Amino acid sequence: MFGNLKKKLKGFFDKAGKEAETEEVEEEVLVEEEIEEIKEDTKKKPKEKKKKSKKDAEEEVEEEKKTEDSKAEKPRKKRSILKKITRRHISEKSLDSILWELELALLENDVAKEVTERITEDTKERLLETDLKKGETAEKAITSALKAAIENTLEVGDLDIIEKIREKEGGPTLILFVGFNGSGKTMTIGKFAQVLQNKGISVLMAAGDTFRAAAIEQLDVHAKALKVPIVKQQRGSDAAAVIYDAVEHAKAKGIDVVLGDTAGRSHADLNLMDELKKVVRVNNPDITIFVGDSLTGNDAAEQAKSFNEAVGIDASVLTKADCDVKGGACISISHMTEKPIIYLGTGQGYEDIEEFNPDWLVEKVFE
Ligand code: GDP
Repeated sequence: MFGNLKKKLKGFFDKAGKEAETEEVEEEVLVEEEIEEIKEDTKKKPKEKKKKSKKDAEEEVEEEKKTEDSKAEKPRKKRSILKKITRRHISEKSLDSILWELELALLENDVAKEVTERITEDTKERLLETDLKKGETAEKAITSALKAAIENTLEVGDLDIIEKIREKEGGPTLILFVGFNGSGKTMTIGKFAQVLQNKGISVLMAAGDTFRAAAIEQLDVHAKALKVPIVKQQRGSDAAAVIYDAVEHAKAKGIDVVLGDTAGRSHADLNLMDELKKVVRVNNPDITIFVGDSLTGNDAAEQAKSFNEAVGIDASVLTKADCDVKGGACISISHMTEKPIIYLGTGQGYEDIEEFNPDWLVEKVFE
């Protein structure tokens, strides 16, 4: 996974480490030093010989605690003194050419342009703001700054769908899957069915892709293989009505979750996009998931952004991560939509799905 990106970044770090010029700056800085004030406690009474009752002893402990607390709160005296320090950092001049190389490495791996710019800017700011630690090489500093910048791009909050499903009262949770044809929506619905069933959550599939007969058949194959009930109608029927019926059926049977397929569409395909808007308006899904093909890189991120603008998505799933050597979609999509990636598809079997978390991605890229 992400082999090409890892190779490119490794080459970049080697080169950057050699090209980075470090500067040493000597500075005098004001530092504050604390002066401890020691005061004699003149009011201290001589110890009483008399045997204390339990109550007296408890009160005394309480009193001592209060005195301790007030001591801790007492402001300490401080004085300012001048100290000479030497700071070492990477020069801004050498950073500019280094970061240009970084920008190219990210773009070549299909990271979206706006995300590439944000990561590069963030890396630069981090490197300019922080001094090199004692013995730290420029290469190491650049690696940690880039790691932090990528982590920062991926942090857009979390969505725990299992928790959301368990919290829902008064009817099934409707999860709607949207995205382009061929992105892996149907396969992902099968994988979700297995994940949820393994957690004791009952599911029903809704064949809402009424545009292609093959899509209905395909979902049916998954439903049979996984022994999951399915609500379907013939090709050309109203997708919003199919999903509505499925929710009613689930309600009647006490099924926890409806997994709704929708016709794969391009955001430029206005008819299908209007149909999708109707599906959402009529059925008000609890969770809408964009399914993107990670191999399409930056395009998947752009598609997710358009779907988010059109119908509002809650999270993304990126499929075919097992074949993805670039990682561009993974790095870009959360930032472009402000919504988290929750799972990665990692193969063609029902079990080939992995929970996504940003730390995992960063570890993978920098391992
Ligand atoms: P849909 O048109 O969006 O419903 O896409 P499908 O679910 O039919 O998937 C399209 C193709 O991608 C099929 O051949 C799937 O087996 C394949 N596919 C889906 N997810 C993955 C994945 O995570 N990894 C791999 N390698 N192939 C996948």
